[in-house]
Amino acid sequence: MNQTELNARFREIRDKVESEERLTMDDGLFLEDPQVPLQEVGALANLVRERKNGNLGYYNINTHLNPTNVCVYRCRFCAFRSDLRDPKGYAMTDEQILARGKEATENGCTEMHIVGGLHHQRPYEWYRNLISLLNSNYPQIDLKAWTAVEINWFEFQTKKSVQWVLEDMREAGLGSMPGGGAEIFHPEIRDQLCEHKANTHAWLDIHRTAHEIGLRTNCTMLYGHLEKAYHRIDHLMRLRELQDQTGGFQVFIPLAFHPENTKLDHLKKPSAIMDLRTMAVSRLMLDNIQHIKAYWIMLGLGTAQTALQYGADDIDGTVRHELIYHDAGATTPEFLSVDQIRHLISETGRKPVERDTTYHEVHRDPNHFATWTRGEPVDKISVSAK
Ligand code: SF4
Repeated sequence: MNQTELNARFREIRDKVESEERLTMDDGLFLEDPQVPLQEVGALANLVRERKNGNLGYYNINTHLNPTNVCVYRCRFCAFRSDLRDPKGYAMTDEQILARGKEATENGCTEMHIVGGLHHQRPYEWYRNLISLLNSNYPQIDLKAWTAVEINWFEFQTKKSVQWVLEDMREAGLGSMPGGGAEIFHPEIRDQLCEHKANTHAWLDIHRTAHEIGLRTNCTMLYGHLEKAYHRIDHLMRLRELQDQTGGFQVFIPLAFHPENTKLDHLKKPSAIMDLRTMAVSRLMLDNIQHIKAYWIMLGLGTAQTALQYGADDIDGTVRHELIYHDAGATTPEFLSVDQIRHLISETGRKPVERDTTYHEVHRDPNHFATWTRGEPVDKISVSAK
């Protein structure tokens, strides 16, 4: 395509975005082309970002819990897993889990993000019990737990339906579901990354069922490894299609691949340019998902800040005890203070707003930081006030 054709094609897409018309697969592939200036794609994504979320930059106060790293699977991109008899393998005790709940509550966390390995010897009841234990002792914390891969494993363990597992977990205290395990849906890539774990159909079906019973979930895409632009756009289209049917996804998180200590360590990690283009294209393609998150742990602080001008409106949380990406070589800090995260956002010109897991405003007691109440859904803040 020569420059004149390129300009004309970009104008066509810009007109569509300005008139809130949905982009096609071909539009997405065009925007992925390195010949299309990144700044222009970013400016277009920023238009949508500000239309949907004004000038706000969301964050939360959260902690992670990875109850075990022992896993029956061997995904090629995973640096976290351990074999059963490997000295690095662990499974947390009830006391350790409760101590995490206490620490989270004392530090004002509104959310605990719980994911881990599929342990060869731990029954479904062990996973259910830890949710129940945390919920009965620390009921205010949203337990955002279990990826679709784990739910699929519980289905296998219990021989019950997805709906039964989700309802049983909800009864135990599950609040919502994270979006991990999506990786790349296209079988050309998925089969090379993780051929044995929950397939694309299972992942989408689990999220569909979660939405149907009223659970809110997140969605992700792991990029920057074996996939091509076509696979990324295909992935976004599949998420968009499910969202059209259920409306249950709250936020999309593009996850940058970290190769260190994985079976793909011969690959380079994605550049900041790729990170920002993926962020912007995701914002433009996913017209029916309200929020796009720049996960600072994986992107690094500078790229995450810049991403707030390239389509992202959320930067994730203060985060304690992140293991999965630090095992894969992430060099970001393991924790940010509230002041640090608010500064990161406000330095970009955005207005920091603390939200909870399901995107309600959080109000804190000015005299006692750890005491908080849930406010209105953030989407109700009028665009003019944003
Ligand atoms: S990504 Fe998850 S399922 Fe795959 S090996 Fe790692 S812990 Fe196991």
